[in-house]
Amino acid sequence: MKLVLWDIDGTLLYSGGVAGAAMRTALTRVYGRPSHDDRRSYAGKTDQQIILETFPDRDATELLARLPEFAAQYLALLEAQAQELAARGGALPGAAAALRHLGALPVVQTVLTGNLQPVAALKLRLVGLTGHLQLAIGAFGSDHHQRNALPAIALQRATASLGRPFAASDAVVIGDTPNDVACGRFAGARTVAVATGPFGREELAAHAPDAILDDLTDPAALAAAVFGTAS
Ligand SMILES: [Mg+2]
Repeated sequence: MKLVLWDIDGTLLYSGGVAGAAMRTALTRVYGRPSHDDRRSYAGKTDQQIILETFPDRDATELLARLPEFAAQYLALLEAQAQELAARGGALPGAAAALRHLGALPVVQTVLTGNLQPVAALKLRLVGLTGHLQLAIGAFGSDHHQRNALPAIALQRATASLGRPFAASDAVVIGDTPNDVACGRFAGARTVAVATGPFGREELAAHAPDAILDDLTDPAALAAAVFGTAS
């Protein structure tokens, strides 16, 4: 039985810039203006990591003490813009069918995402991708600021709630950035990169994932990438 750990942004869905804008507004409301304004990419980073990197000159413990306040602001902004997110963003091509296809195979599917848990749940709901994903055993940006810590958390939750042990070798991390590949490798999981985010196939290949897909439109190729068999 495989434990498939899906990244969300750039892998299963895109939020049409709505989530990024909401995050920047929430950051400014809670923490004030960033001391630098280089608008770094959020891709592959946890929400906690984004807060820490946006305010590098501030005390990390103080910043993270205000995480609940930030989460509430961010979630309220996203909920207010739900229709816009659903209209400007959406599930990526093949994502719904991919979840359905793997759902018929010996796999348990959940998410491994830098998103805070309620934000992840909201985005998935708005684009209609909640089926086949067991969010209760996922790992989220609310769990840790380092993505590398997240696979172990998901394995622990799956083992505790599904009544059978899941080892790192059972896990498959699917994501669109080098950080996804790195966290999967760090945990000893299989890694599948999908070139539907900000990184192209060649850039992802440089990080040597176990498999690379252009997108999720070929369910047989996805299954082969997950199980490590030829498609
Ligand atoms: Mg991503």
